[in-house]
Amino acid sequence: MDTRANQFEDGGLAALGIELAAFANNLPGGFFVYEAHDDKRILYANEYMPRLFGCDTVDEFMEYVGGTFSGLVYHEDRQRVEDSVWAQIDSVPKDDAVLRDHVSYRIVDKSGALRYLDEYGRLIRGTARGDVFFVFVASVFTYEGAVGGSTVPPHHAVSAGVDVLTGLPSMPYYHGHTSEFLSRAFARGIPMVDVFFDVDHFRTINFRLGYEGGDEVLQRVGNVLQEVFPGDLLSRFSDDHFVLVTRRQGLEERLELAHDRVARILPGMNVELKAGVFELSPGETTIPFAHDRAKVACNSIKGRYDRHYRFYDQSLSIEEELRNYVVENIETAVASGWIHNYYQPVVRAQTERTCGVEALSRWIDPDRGMLSPVEFISVLEESRLIHLLDQAVIDRACEDLQRMRREHGVAVPVSLNFAPTALSLFDVPAMLDKKLREHDIEPELVHVEITESSLAEDPELLRSVIARLHRMGYKVWMDDFGSGYSSLNLLKDYDFDVLKVDMEFLRGMEGNDKSRTIVSAVTNLAHELNMTTLVEGVETRAQFEFLRSVGVDRAQGFLFSRPVPYDELVNDFFRRYPPE
Ligand code: C2E
Ligand code: MG
Ligand code: MG
Repeated sequence: MDTRANQFEDGGLAALGIELAAFANNLPGGFFVYEAHDDKRILYANEYMPRLFGCDTVDEFMEYVGGTFSGLVYHEDRQRVEDSVWAQIDSVPKDDAVLRDHVSYRIVDKSGALRYLDEYGRLIRGTARGDVFFVFVASVFTYEGAVGGSTVPPHHAVSAGVDVLTGLPSMPYYHGHTSEFLSRAFARGIPMVDVFFDVDHFRTINFRLGYEGGDEVLQRVGNVLQEVFPGDLLSRFSDDHFVLVTRRQGLEERLELAHDRVARILPGMNVELKAGVFELSPGETTIPFAHDRAKVACNSIKGRYDRHYRFYDQSLSIEEELRNYVVENIETAVASGWIHNYYQPVVRAQTERTCGVEALSRWIDPDRGMLSPVEFISVLEESRLIHLLDQAVIDRACEDLQRMRREHGVAVPVSLNFAPTALSLFDVPAMLDKKLREHDIEPELVHVEITESSLAEDPELLRSVIARLHRMGYKVWMDDFGSGYSSLNLLKDYDFDVLKVDMEFLRGMEGNDKSRTIVSAVTNLAHELNMTTLVEGVETRAQFEFLRSVGVDRAQGFLFSRPVPYDELVNDFFRRYPPE
């Protein structure tokens, strides 16, 4: 048998009696050639091309698209395709003579329907017509819905196969093609990975730039990923979540590259791309399992500035196991009294007397010992079970306040933390009101701490919750000020009573003149806006003295006490720092 299948002359096409033109016309997809310069004129198109566009002849097709490559691509995708093609060509290593690109885009056929094309291009330099692109295209599917017919904002509109915002394949398309994509790679012995991407603090970006600005950021993130991972299976699943199947080799460098390019999208604002990676075993072609693991790895580095990606490993499976345990056992934990309130005192800077305590919950498990809130709060938020914890914490706080009053004749106000999602998951003011009535506790004895990141969630809701809490007689504190992206400017939009600044934010300020100016400016501004200032995380006497000298009102931190159980608070701490 003759195995020289690529020999045109004697063995291959000629032996079949096929001429070059017939060959091009009988390819199993569209093929065309266009000039890489000026108007990008199409020089040749095979007979498959008109079919993709619902035209009968090549001439009709040429007229329909205006004879140019740009005219062929759906207008919303043009710039992205142009940028992506050249970025890919430019990134081909110098010693590789084959200048390739792989892009996906939409076209509009004659009936007005959008179709999704996958193109493989190759740049041929120095032909008689200058540089030209040879392009092979396959139609992936037809997008259902007429062009421009959608009134849904783009970030919600995901069709059966294409994500309208980024032009990337959508989840169903991705799921439908991973198995085949992986089989091909594994057949060639190429190690593959599943990657989950998330844009950290994307809500803040949306909040700051509005949805249109946020959409643009997502489009550009999509472009960057396409450029850095050409030819790979890439998709946007939802919101700011992108997924990718790619080869293992050289992954770290490519992830760093993508991270750095995304960080440059908005100078002055940190657009932080995080990636979780799951290494697929050869032959593994079902993706949901891998995908969940990649996501777990990605979530584990959210909010951490020192890590841009993480591979899924055994330690993560332990964390994951703990998360599952928390979700499955929260009801038991509440019912069995495993949820305890520890209290960390707050002292007044001038007098060093106790002026309040913060309730910090601890899950003391009969088998696992003490779990810290960082191990269970975010899980409970994500699984929408946070109200179970919050109810328990309020109950304990009310019981302890009653006891304090009964046994010690005083009751210092307790501040309670509410997670950002709690506000949208349940009616926090109503729940507080009900619990306090049950225990006969006045609202003046309970303060509500809302963390700064809530500002990014739903400003309207937050404003109305604060207003209701005020009407009911509660003080509302902003927790963790300075930890995220909030600006001083935001403070004027909300009616907080106390501004709680994390010492972390003030790190290194002692002895530094600029920091001194900043801290006293923040303090003065807070005072002018009728807010009290509290700095938490105070660990040294020097820090405390500094804070006192710039006029900070209250302090909290290990210098005074760690969070302690109720008994230790009243029997030990109150003796050293008497309540005012
Ligand atoms: P947070 O409200 O900002 O609480 C302060 C955290 O800093 C506490 O960690 C506290 O133990 C720690 N801390 C206090 N003083 C110092 C110090 O001087 N140095 C250092 N390095 N750390 C200090 P914890 O108790 O692990 O709580 C972590 C976070 O979990 C809290 O941050 C709060 O946001 C959340 N949290 C705790 N309990 C609850 C709760 O019952 N409900 C809700 N929704 N969130 C809670
Ligand atoms: Mg707090
Ligand atoms: Mg805090």
